[in-house]
Amino acid sequence: MITLKGAEVSAKIKEQVDELYKGITGSKPKLAIVRVGERPDDLSYERGALKKMEAFGLLAESFSFPCDISDEDFKREFSKINKNPEIQGILLLRPLPSQILEKDIEQMIDPKKDLDGISPYNIAKIFAGEESGFAPCTAEAVVEVLKTNDIDLTGKKVIIVGRSMVVGRPLSMLLLKENATVTICHTRTENLKDTCKNGDIIIAAVGRAKMLDGSYIGKDAIVIDVGINVDDNGKLCGDVDFDSLEGIASMATPVPGGVGAVTTAVLAKHLVMAALSQAEH
Ligand code: NDP
Repeated sequence: MITLKGAEVSAKIKEQVDELYKGITGSKPKLAIVRVGERPDDLSYERGALKKMEAFGLLAESFSFPCDISDEDFKREFSKINKNPEIQGILLLRPLPSQILEKDIEQMIDPKKDLDGISPYNIAKIFAGEESGFAPCTAEAVVEVLKTNDIDLTGKKVIIVGRSMVVGRPLSMLLLKENATVTICHTRTENLKDTCKNGDIIIAAVGRAKMLDGSYIGKDAIVIDVGINVDDNGKLCGDVDFDSLEGIASMATPVPGGVGAVTTAVLAKHLVMAALSQAEH
């Protein structure tokens, strides 16, 4: 079984970013990472994003707020970041605490700075199959892993387990655009195992540690693991039981070191694209 490593895909995206960067004439593009509270997974994603921006020669600044900030105060602060001409891209770490109306922020965020595709404008673009919108970085990272490894998606049966707005749903649209035949599964899916076994490519975005083992996978299928979980021993693991795939799958992404590493590279690419389009306007 071939291990599809995120670092290699990330390096190829860096080449694309370097090429795009040649079109930047002014100051370095800057990312704002907006975080409310101190959730460990947010902090870990923030550290990863800061590191990646530095590695890609881009600027990033964290804006953090206490978890009990009021809806009104957060919106005022968010609006300042949203309008700041020195910031070309925004990553909002979610979910937000319940007192903040997340739907309002999705409406507020400038679509041109919305690098993680949360605004209705960008979502509509992705669902219409248009190139000009920003897709959620994780969903796009999955497509990058497949394409960079020369996996032709045309006519392939792709099974996505998970239907969230962050991963499953936008990813289904990106794959449809690549002419895959897409099935989305969820908690109400009947015969999940049989459905997965029938796929050429299985994408796990479930949020359950090692839920999909080799018994879900057909011979020589490709397995992409989006999950980030902590197992019983406190170790980071995916939604797939990687070791159980040996002798069954043809290729698979590991966790850590798979899709996660690519997500922040896509974020960097979106930042440079955003800076270029804002410079044009
Ligand atoms: P959500 O919790 O929002 O969605 C999980 C989805 O999985 C739901 O659609 C749910 O179905 C489905 N599901 C849960 N349990 C089962 C089951 N037993 N059988 C079938 N379907 C099931 O999670 P996210 O989409 O936000 O994240 C998914 C995973 O990806 C998580 O591990 C998360 O940490 C990781 N992640 C990784 C990122 C990265 O950069 N690598 C970024 C974002 C997320 P239903 O709709 O019916 O409830």
